[in-house]
Amino acid sequence: AVSIQKVNKWYGNLHVLRDVDLDVAAGERVVVCGPSGSGKSTLIRCINNLEEHQQGTIVVDGIQVDHNIAHLDAVRREVGMVFQSFNLFPHLTVLENCTLAPMLVRGVARADAEAQARAYLERVRIPDQANKFPGQLSGGQQQRVAIARALCMKPKIMLFDEPTSALDPEMVKEVLDTMVSLARDGMTMICVTHEMGFAREVADRVVFMDHGQIVESGSPQAVFGQPKTDRLKLFLGQVL
Ligand code: ATP
Ligand code: MG
Repeated sequence: AVSIQKVNKWYGNLHVLRDVDLDVAAGERVVVCGPSGSGKSTLIRCINNLEEHQQGTIVVDGIQVDHNIAHLDAVRREVGMVFQSFNLFPHLTVLENCTLAPMLVRGVARADAEAQARAYLERVRIPDQANKFPGQLSGGQQQRVAIARALCMKPKIMLFDEPTSALDPEMVKEVLDTMVSLARDGMTMICVTHEMGFAREVADRVVFMDHGQIVESGSPQAVFGQPKTDRLKLFLGQVL
């Protein structure tokens, strides 16, 4: 579970998160949407301290995200993250990308790490790409490797930051299908995405951000079907 309370963040004078409150229960799927620059990436990056917040509290699975290195290590073990740009290690094979962190961080033996990686590559439906390098794969395949790599750390929570927005249209579906199947298995997920179909299918809650604030939140039906604010109406008019 993730608990975010009264979180504020500034970049210099720029106030990018304003009193953000967000609670995500174990097994819950939350989709975050909103205009460019509204603070979506900053918010989810604060959860695993890729960015630091200055005020308020963030608690992940009972662990406070603060300056304590032991806390940050513990939080990062629990939280997997998938980015818009796949961020794979280009000089490592797909299999090595997936086994590196479990071996280094979790101390898993190579044979076990490889068996586990192959199982997750099977799960994201690219078991036959294990020995290739990222540059030899399509964007959709690379993103599925990134998802498999994150899963190999057995995270309790998965964060996605626009995982399909850098993909060619024909590859979006294969990545969304992987995310839907992850959601069906009960993974706790916070996804920044403008894929309304995905949100309607799996989100327990949709959160709309604008100017660093959560402006509206509710079921996909409520948020997309009965927007209350002009800001959300305007946004929906642009993305739908
Ligand atoms: P997008 O949809 O374009 O990804 P976003 O909602 O994810 O937008 P953020 O990336 O969280 O928005 O950015 C929020 C604000 O903070 C923006 O005004 C952005 O310019 C600013 N910002 C983001 N990262 C930095 C940084 N490292 N230094 C200074 N300002 C930043
Ligand atoms: Mg962003």
